[in-house]
Amino acid sequence: MDSTPSPRGTPPLTPAAAGTLARWLTGPRIGALPAPTDLPPPALSFEFSPPRTEKLEAQLWACIRRLEPLAPRFVSVTYGAGGSTQAYTHATVARLVAETSLTPAAHLTCVGATREEVDAVARQYWDAGVRHIVALRGDPPAGSGGYEPHPGGYAQAADLVAGLKRVAPFEISVGAYPETHPAAVSPEADLDNLKRKIDAGANRAITQYFFETEVFLRFLDRALAAGITVPVVPGILPVSNFTQVARFSAMCGASVPGWLARLFEGLEEDPTTRGMIAAVVAAEQARLLQANGVDEIHFYTLNRPDLTYAISHLLGARPKAAG
Ligand code: FAD
Repeated sequence: MDSTPSPRGTPPLTPAAAGTLARWLTGPRIGALPAPTDLPPPALSFEFSPPRTEKLEAQLWACIRRLEPLAPRFVSVTYGAGGSTQAYTHATVARLVAETSLTPAAHLTCVGATREEVDAVARQYWDAGVRHIVALRGDPPAGSGGYEPHPGGYAQAADLVAGLKRVAPFEISVGAYPETHPAAVSPEADLDNLKRKIDAGANRAITQYFFETEVFLRFLDRALAAGITVPVVPGILPVSNFTQVARFSAMCGASVPGWLARLFEGLEEDPTTRGMIAAVVAAEQARLLQANGVDEIHFYTLNRPDLTYAISHLLGARPKAAG
């Protein structure tokens, strides 16, 4: 009779006892994550994109109002590729200042503008009460080829950080790439660039999204070894539309593991199940980060609040009374 190998000292397992019992006795033991309530909730920040239509504006503001009670440390508003959303970004940030209890951070890029123009936008933000800028090089508009610095502009994010510091004493966040920025010569050169941004005055780095938690944790080790001691905040993207995310990831250098593709297989027409899977995947990732001591998390909300709200709740965040 066939038998499955068993640990020393126990009788061979019969085929009937194979399966769960055999794997439990012979496989690796996986320790559970600590109970969600055993860990302090991380400080949260949420990223939004400025709307271009009235319908999208209503969706964004419903998202903001739903997430506002979670009292994030800040919320950030993106700047479209090529600076294409400047007016929308500014309007959204100004409304956040005027009408909410939230602390906004305005994304600002180097693309398509002179230094004087970028400085003027930054000054407008300062005058409107905005104290936090997410300073980025930016990507060129779709279809325009590779990045070319504007002749009179800031060439790279590190130059922008230094320029912003000359305008006003902003709090500044910059981008970081656990899997290395696609245009970087090497991972080491990319880390040197991050260090330059910090040395120019950035207070924190927010990472590109990633799906393998280990990739972020190793990046933290490498950043520390490179002398980077400001907070490096993981960016989490709850995946509600896998096809879209896979396409975007190919451009921005975030790898999409095979296991993630498998999880969304066959669900192209089933948004409800996709949403449930997305919540489980992102919650597991966030909880693993939390269990590893990560105490700040940035969510790419895509202006959809439900996944971010549910995962934040799982991490221990609870609505706070407005005040
Ligand atoms: P940089 O830090 O300037 O780096 C760009 C590349 O140049 C890297 O490969 C770097 O290694 C290399 N490099 C820089 N300086 C040097 C040097 N001196 N010598 C050699 N190599 C160098 N894009 C938008 O358009 N709008 C947004 O709102 C926006 N928000 C974002 C938010 C976050 C959190 C992140 C992570 C990215 C965001 N992006 C946004 C995308 C970002 O603009 C792109 O990833 C862009 O290609 C790089 O921006 P950066 O600020 O990281 O560039």
